[in-house]
Amino acid sequence: MSSGSKAEGIALDPLQQAVSDTLDEARRQALAAAQQVERGVEEAVGQARVRVGQAAEKVEHAFDGTVERTRGLWRRTAVAITRWFDTSAAATLDPATADRIDWLRVLPFVGLHLACLGVYWVGVSAFAVAVALALYLLRMFAITAFYHRYFSHRSFQTSRVLQFAFALIGASSVQRGPLWWAAHHRHHHRHADQPADLHSPRQHGFWRSHMGWFMTPRAFAIDFDLIPDLARHPELRFLDRFDILVPVALAAALFFLGGWLETHAPGLQTNGPQLLVWGFFVSTVVLFHATVTINSLAHVWGRRRYATRDDSRNNLWLALLTLGEGWHNNHHHYPASTRQGFYWWEIDLSYYALKAMSGLGLVWGLKPVPRRIRDTRTRSQA
Ligand SMILES: [Zn+2]
Ligand SMILES: [Zn+2]
Repeated sequence: MSSGSKAEGIALDPLQQAVSDTLDEARRQALAAAQQVERGVEEAVGQARVRVGQAAEKVEHAFDGTVERTRGLWRRTAVAITRWFDTSAAATLDPATADRIDWLRVLPFVGLHLACLGVYWVGVSAFAVAVALALYLLRMFAITAFYHRYFSHRSFQTSRVLQFAFALIGASSVQRGPLWWAAHHRHHHRHADQPADLHSPRQHGFWRSHMGWFMTPRAFAIDFDLIPDLARHPELRFLDRFDILVPVALAAALFFLGGWLETHAPGLQTNGPQLLVWGFFVSTVVLFHATVTINSLAHVWGRRRYATRDDSRNNLWLALLTLGEGWHNNHHHYPASTRQGFYWWEIDLSYYALKAMSGLGLVWGLKPVPRRIRDTRTRSQA
């Protein structure tokens, strides 16, 4: 029995062996497959982890960038707003943005123009228009006779008190302080219509020469090396640094005067808002654009008596509008003289007023045009 069982056992062995081998093989394969799956899963998890890490890094980077940009924007806004009130704040120039219009910084200038639309609400009166016209004439005289012919060119002399008085009236024109104005104007004469001239229509086109140029950080800066004779007066430096003060004081004075007249002189039919809009906003905007035609139009439109190196022109209409500055070709030919109309028929109202003031002893040393210089008639193309 036992030998029979043994024989049976022996006979069954190969089958068992085969089953056992198959099972082993299947187990091995299953194990290998499981290991492969495990490796695959590990690999996938690893890759996913790397991708998540990279994505997180990207998000972090983007966040940092946004924070940095926001910080930069706040910084620029803060600087721009500070410089509305104090022109000396953060005056370093970034070459990347030096020639781009700084819209934040020029918001008050944009507002000055928009405020003129106020005429639709405040109406008009003869008195308000008369005040606007009188302030136009007085301030145009301060700009042409003092900011230009006195501060920029030293073409006559005056006392320190009158120098300050006309610097103050000039500053109410919202064309910044006398130092800024004179430094840029001296720079213009040095480089007139050359690439360095910030307001040359030939170099930069009409609108840039008219108003775009001074809205850039490069133009906000003052080159003090050009105005050592003016910068030594602390009262002038003060006017330049806080150049918003005088215009705001004028605007407030007009507003209160209008309110006072409404009660005490109702026949004038004016009031605070009306006098503010006409006397300050309208008058100042017209005054501004008339003044800067000398940078733009007076280098484009008119006749050239003298063959100066620039494109300056003589133009009667601009001379009437600006109380004498339209004889701009004469002026570039000989900037040292007080008068810009070189002949009796070249109307130069600022010069006549200065002549009258010199008769009263308020100004003196008015510089004439030497006849030989006036008669150098090398006429160039019109
Ligand atoms: Zn010029
Ligand atoms: Zn000049």
